[in-house]
Amino acid sequence: MSERVAVVTGASRGIGRAIALKLAEDGNTVIVNYNGSREKACAVVSEIQAAGGLAEAAGCDVSDFNGAEEFLKAVVKKYGRIDVLVNNAGITRDGLLMKMSEEEFDEVLRINLKGAFNCIRHASRQMLKQRGGRIINISSVSGVMGNAGQANYSASKAGIIGLTKSAARELASRGITVNAVAPGFIDTEMTRALSDQVKEHASGQIPFGRFGKTEDVAAAVAFFASEQAGYITGQVLCVDGGMAM
Ligand code: NAP
Repeated sequence: MSERVAVVTGASRGIGRAIALKLAEDGNTVIVNYNGSREKACAVVSEIQAAGGLAEAAGCDVSDFNGAEEFLKAVVKKYGRIDVLVNNAGITRDGLLMKMSEEEFDEVLRINLKGAFNCIRHASRQMLKQRGGRIINISSVSGVMGNAGQANYSASKAGIIGLTKSAARELASRGITVNAVAPGFIDTEMTRALSDQVKEHASGQIPFGRFGKTEDVAAAVAFFASEQAGYITGQVLCVDGGMAM
């Protein structure tokens, strides 16, 4: 068993999968969380194990307060600790503000923002006992800059930044750092769903002129999770090809 235990929410695909692979490569035992995609999460675990790493898949809807508590309690019961928590699980329900339904607004806030709160709330209990830990929340440039058609998503991702800074202030005295990574446009299923016209327009707003890779985000997360980042807290690092500067 590895000494360091990392929980990555929404790690069955996309950015979460890349984060899980990178943290495993860095020597963490990784808990690969998923909501619906069990097979994909198990495939991520197999990939980690094939590379000599340690991982297990664990299903949980992070937006469920009690479910998140059960999930994280089970991790502590089995491994005795949680060193790294990456709140990555997220969804989009895009649409113009004037057409956005109450359900579309609530669902995005419930999963993206409340899900992160739930996991921080329950994992930090163990980190407080350990007097140490790393929490990394995945925000978005949409939360930094706003984005037409994403009022719900931008609000959730801006909320993540406030949550990050407040938690950072509360938990610093116990050696727990809390930071956020704000990706720009990254090539995943989430952005593959966008129309060619939207993708072309988006690329035009990126100084690099192209979408980023999931590995670009994973590298930033791995830095915040590392020993070297022990004196950095409450920060938001944009991984966006220069989009939000
Ligand atoms: P993705 O490919 O759509 O993957 C989303 C992941 O979240 C899946 O593993 C999914 O698991 C999980 N998830 C969704 N609802 C969940 C829930 N209630 N409980 C637990 N897990 C849940 O998305 P992605 O592009 O990799 O995005 C990952 C994160 O980065 C999100 O927070 C997203 O907002 C953020 N982000 C992405 C981009 C981008 O350009 N792609 C840019 C900025 C920020 P299941 O499949 O098992 O449901």
